[in-house]
Amino acid sequence: MSNGPGGSRPPLRITVVYNNVPHSPGLATAWGFAAVVETVGHTVLFDTGADGQTLLANLRKLDIDPRSVDTVVLSHMHGDHTGGLDNVLARRSDVTVYVPRSTASNFCRALRRRGARVEAVGGAQRLFGNVHSTGEMGRDIREQALILEARLGLVVMTGCAHPGIVAMAKTARDYLGRDIYLLMGGFHLLRYSPAANRKTIDDLRRMGVRKVAPSHCTGDEAIAMFRSTWGKDYLDGGCGAVIEVP
Ligand SMILES: [Zn+2]
Ligand SMILES: [Zn+2]
Repeated sequence: MSNGPGGSRPPLRITVVYNNVPHSPGLATAWGFAAVVETVGHTVLFDTGADGQTLLANLRKLDIDPRSVDTVVLSHMHGDHTGGLDNVLARRSDVTVYVPRSTASNFCRALRRRGARVEAVGGAQRLFGNVHSTGEMGRDIREQALILEARLGLVVMTGCAHPGIVAMAKTARDYLGRDIYLLMGGFHLLRYSPAANRKTIDDLRRMGVRKVAPSHCTGDEAIAMFRSTWGKDYLDGGCGAVIEVP
């Protein structure tokens, strides 16, 4: 890896391990989202999908040992993002789990009882190293996005983006004052009109989002719009997709 004059930032490897959107043949697809982020010194599981058996089976096929996961970040408390956590903790319980601050205390207590360290995330903050959170956003459904600092810009990963994909992207960009290199995950555009989604796409283009990898609850129609708009900078983000970020 090249070390620029601004110092070296560690490379990132992202593997989508749970998704209803298919990519790699041989992996199980099911409604939900989870991705493994390998960065220097840490392996982070962002969301856990809906079903732990499916998650573990996909990890096995992708040759990722669940015991290598030392950190879990839960975007929000919907079952298609939290359902696999139990099975992960059954393999290794001494993990740190970052949850939105509004998460029910009995949920956090149950995790602590199993040996996990639970960190409640309020505002935008650094979790460790080059890994940050937007902090919990939104009114009804509180959700945080994961932010990874890379040499070429920020990687912003959303679970469902219930607070709005544009709002979450803006929060990440403004918090760290850097442009977004890659925006990926569920963008929650499934129920919106093509005209509304065109506006969302225009907003993200205007922000200078360089690459996109939408999946999960983005919806096939909106995904097709992202693909045609971003062209070669559209990345497949379905189940099994591996994205290496310099
Ligand atoms: Zn959700
Ligand atoms: Zn979801």
